[in-house]
Amino acid sequence: MKEAIQPKYHVTTVTCACGNTFETGSVKQELRVEICSNCHPFFTGKQKFVDAGGRVDKFKKKYGI
Ligand SMILES: [Zn+2]
Repeated sequence: MKEAIQPKYHVTTVTCACGNTFETGSVKQELRVEICSNCHPFFTGKQKFVDAGGRVDKFKKKYGI
């Protein structure tokens, strides 16, 4: 079996507002997200926000948490 290589699809480093970074496949070279599987209650089952210089507060206000 040969792996199909898609030129515009590569490994992207995603930076989350909580400070977590992880890699995923994307057509974009860089991604910034405000929530990820590391900090989202939906994924963790509990809130585990890490304060990242007030950015979390802005996030909470934005989403009414
Ligand atoms: Zn996160």
